[in-house]
Amino acid sequence: MSQPCIICVAITGSLPTKENNPAVPITIAEQIESTHEAFEAGATIAHCHVRDDEGKPTSDPQRFARLKEGLEKHCPGMIVQLSTGGRSGAGQARGGMLPLRPDMASLSVGSNNFPTRVYENPPDLVDWLASEMVVHGVKPEIEAFDLSHILKAHEMWKRGQLRDRPYVQFVMGVKNAMPADRNVFDYYVATVKRLFGDNAPWCAAGIGSNQIVLNEWAISAGGHARTGMEDNVRLDRTRLAPSNAALVQRAAALCQQYGRPVASWQQAREILGIPVKA
Ligand SMILES: [Zn+2]
Repeated sequence: MSQPCIICVAITGSLPTKENNPAVPITIAEQIESTHEAFEAGATIAHCHVRDDEGKPTSDPQRFARLKEGLEKHCPGMIVQLSTGGRSGAGQARGGMLPLRPDMASLSVGSNNFPTRVYENPPDLVDWLASEMVVHGVKPEIEAFDLSHILKAHEMWKRGQLRDRPYVQFVMGVKNAMPADRNVFDYYVATVKRLFGDNAPWCAAGIGSNQIVLNEWAISAGGHARTGMEDNVRLDRTRLAPSNAALVQRAAALCQQYGRPVASWQQAREILGIPVKA
């Protein structure tokens, strides 16, 4: 039987609004409900950002704490991954939630362009975020917006700055960053295998209409898949996604098509080496 596929749902992000799609969960209560539906549809990692009362991105640890608590209560076993990437330029405030000891946190290890700005990840901030994750027992997910980010993660691992073998996510299709290019994708996969071993788990995410493309590339190539409204709010050109769960179902259908069982939360934790925290 082929390796189970972990489906990560990125429920909210820092950009999508109710104007883009009314189903985007913004309040903590909406986020918990939307994640619960996605969990029932097969997602086993919840990638989370939080918003303030005006719907703007924030790194407020108290909001992250309420969300984490709600997810642990309503989605028992699901891996909670908090984003440290949502507020470029905010400095160490981006890691203020790490003492909450979530299962995972996203970690960007280099800078690149975003649609309208620079996504700033200066070396001293990257080192600090990584060290905080070690201190608090948080497994990082390396967000690779560029090939150099995969090699940087390898260097950090060799230096002992990461808890264990990096779990890398390729992010493709962000305007002004790496497009969804199949040759580059194949080289990313080959690079992960060369640096971290043939069995090293990896994941991929595509933005907008590239979401389903990257889901298919990752699932068919033995990787894990990220979906959700952070990256894409549509099913196709004419239809909005009715929920995060609908996007998870779309990824789960691809798993079935390629003979990959959808990972249970127990399998996801085993693959990633994340025990349930006491
Ligand atoms: Zn995110």
